[in-house]
Amino acid sequence: MIKDIYASITRPREIAAMYYIRKHSREIKQYKESLDELASQLSDRDFCYAALNKVSRSFAVVIQQLPEQLKDPVCLFYLILRALDTLEDDMRFSDNEKLPLLRNFHELIGNETWYREGIGDTKDYRDLLKHYPKVARSYNQLDREYHQVIKDITQRMGNGMADFADRKVNSLDDYDEYCHYVAGLVGHGLSGLFSASGLESELLKDKLQISNSMGLFLQKTNIIRDYHEDLYLGRSFWPSEVWKQYADHFDYFANAPESPEALACLNHLVVDALRHIPDCIQYMRLLQNKQVFRFCAIPQVMAMATLAEVFNNPKVFTGVVKIRKGLAARLMLHTQNMDEVIKSFRKFLHIIENKINSNDPNTQNLQKQLKAIYEILDKPELSANQTSKLSFQDSKNSLNKMVEQEV
Ligand code: MG
Repeated sequence: MIKDIYASITRPREIAAMYYIRKHSREIKQYKESLDELASQLSDRDFCYAALNKVSRSFAVVIQQLPEQLKDPVCLFYLILRALDTLEDDMRFSDNEKLPLLRNFHELIGNETWYREGIGDTKDYRDLLKHYPKVARSYNQLDREYHQVIKDITQRMGNGMADFADRKVNSLDDYDEYCHYVAGLVGHGLSGLFSASGLESELLKDKLQISNSMGLFLQKTNIIRDYHEDLYLGRSFWPSEVWKQYADHFDYFANAPESPEALACLNHLVVDALRHIPDCIQYMRLLQNKQVFRFCAIPQVMAMATLAEVFNNPKVFTGVVKIRKGLAARLMLHTQNMDEVIKSFRKFLHIIENKINSNDPNTQNLQKQLKAIYEILDKPELSANQTSKLSFQDSKNSLNKMVEQEV
């Protein structure tokens, strides 16, 4: 925390925001004991939240934004996909055993006797799989509409992961396809869960393209930011079709981080990620429940801030580039409605604009992309969560009309 305060020392509002968030996230219980130790002490449900908090603190915080009836389905959806991903990521786990398991994991979701020991890259992941019956029992408590969504997405993601086990991300199409499996499908699933809860329009679950984009925008931002970490771990998700335009070897950029080639390659991928913003804005405009809106919008705004930070930044090639904790805290507090989201997006797009290097071969594409985004941001559209003067029924009707028009 001291380091984070120091980073925001000239920004007192960020420091205040950090204290506010810290104070209000105390309700999320943090345990010192390992999941393995907790398994015998906690109820199934408490174990699931403890597991969520261990494997993704940031997701555990953002899930607190959700309405009560959606917290359990979304928490379990996350843990089940995390279990699947744990199977996928463990490189010591042989393909002979792994691939059939990835393809059939959807049949095991509610199996209260299934578990695996010794699989997973971290202790928390291994403990999650070891105590999987606690997840399965919690899943079996959910309403059936949620089961359908979770099972369907798990099946599609598991098959996608198995397909990509011996396939590399070469073309931009591969890149989009891979990101669809690991993140776009999460977008589909969340829309399905929101519709099933009745808190969002039942038409939302059919908005596949824009739901997919919500996931792709986040995933691509992470892939761009994680260049250095992934290189160190011996993997790469940057499409070779792109990086081969700038270098013969993927590790060239780490050795020449300030070179025009390295920065142009990085910016090329940032421009590609920006392509998804119009869809994301459109998706967020369709949401009508304020808490669901915040749950979806906070990660989008954080990703936008991260893209502004990584754009044209040689540090991406030599370490981890992150936004200040203070900035993240402020963004979290100031993502209450669509107006605030648009304000944040504009701010970070301007930061990118101010960093444009006219010698960069991507500049023209970037400017075209920015123009298209500004047009969407400027569009004075009735956003569902701004219609507080309308009754719930009215706003629901206007939302349905908007969704229909869009089809
Ligand atoms: Mg994985």
